[in-house]
Amino acid sequence: MLAAFLSAVGDPARTRMADAGAGDAGTGSTSGTAEQQSNATPETSAGEGGGNNGVIRQAGEGTAGKETVSKEPAGSSPLDRLVIGQLPEPDLPPGWALVKMAAASLNHHDIWTLQGVSSRPISPPQVLGCDGTGTVVAYGPGPVPAHAPPLGSNILAYPVISCRECANCRSGNELLCRDVALLSEGKYQGTLAELFPVPAANLIQLPDTVTPTAAACMGTTYLTAYHMMYDRARLVPGNTLLIHGATGGVAVAVMQLAKIGGISVIATARSEAKRQFARRMGAALALESDTASAREIQRFTAGGVDAVMETVGAPTWELSLRSVKPDGMVVVSGATGGGNPPAMLQRVFWRQIRIVGSTMGTFQELNRLVGLLARGQLNPLVDSVTPLSGAAGAFAKLYRGEQSGKLVITA
Ligand SMILES: [Zn+2]
Repeated sequence: MLAAFLSAVGDPARTRMADAGAGDAGTGSTSGTAEQQSNATPETSAGEGGGNNGVIRQAGEGTAGKETVSKEPAGSSPLDRLVIGQLPEPDLPPGWALVKMAAASLNHHDIWTLQGVSSRPISPPQVLGCDGTGTVVAYGPGPVPAHAPPLGSNILAYPVISCRECANCRSGNELLCRDVALLSEGKYQGTLAELFPVPAANLIQLPDTVTPTAAACMGTTYLTAYHMMYDRARLVPGNTLLIHGATGGVAVAVMQLAKIGGISVIATARSEAKRQFARRMGAALALESDTASAREIQRFTAGGVDAVMETVGAPTWELSLRSVKPDGMVVVSGATGGGNPPAMLQRVFWRQIRIVGSTMGTFQELNRLVGLLARGQLNPLVDSVTPLSGAAGAFAKLYRGEQSGKLVITA
């Protein structure tokens, strides 16, 4: 089967996010974080992916095909370790479903994997992709799990794999499971393949009104945004939030979900073009992402925003703490610009600011997002739809941070 995977070549795989300079951001291994990395790169730093053309190897039947231009020596780009080529069909354990992929979407998590950074040890070939939709074509040996969709159903895969047995899993808090991982991490194959395996319990049957392309955008970016806004910050209609890096995947998702939820958005971005984009997406106010903007935010909100959706970290941390109201919340789901800003503890305690971590979202929340799609309330922003055979170009776009909206790959 055709798949997009990390090839056997390249640097030895590293296994902790901290190795990538993301500090000790414990949530760093999730796609939520990784996605924001792509968002923030053009905004905040010339770090990973900034202005890098890389080398893209398009392997057909095991042979290196065309290579695009590179500004740097071969081997120094993570894209150099991307192969679009043939792999054997995956094994299907009991309790798992085999899905014929219809659409999958890229996340910066995939770039991290190509860089050898993962929550789990990587042993190539590692099939990439956290988000995927498709048709159930088989179940693993043994009885079909209860409540599993019938063969032939169109499904969305929930990308979080957990033990399903611990107290946290049983109470619907699978993100707190000690054995949590994402599709495409460690021993789990990703979704960027003609066929991908998923635990049957992770399948969400899609209503006819929901397209595979739209659903394939939900699993990390939109889910991360939803969890930050409604589980962590518990925002209600009439609240105001602040988001940095207005054109990033999670930022776009936050702006779209805020519109549906009656929440006012203030966005920051470095360029006027990106601020205009934020205004088009419904931001009530779009400002430069430097600390001086805090005064305008305080004035506009008469005292500060209810919550900040912080995905950038060091470059925006002071602005976040100066923009949130007393007893307001800063929700952190990424630290793409750096994980160790000055803590500003005097401000934190004096203004009783709550700082809360967030990563991915729950199965139940992903179901709610599918509900929004089914009711026509949410229409994810899609940058482009590319066949799997041409996925290398989409990866390059992601790596360079040139996308606006989700990069969708189809079988
Ligand atoms: Zn568990």
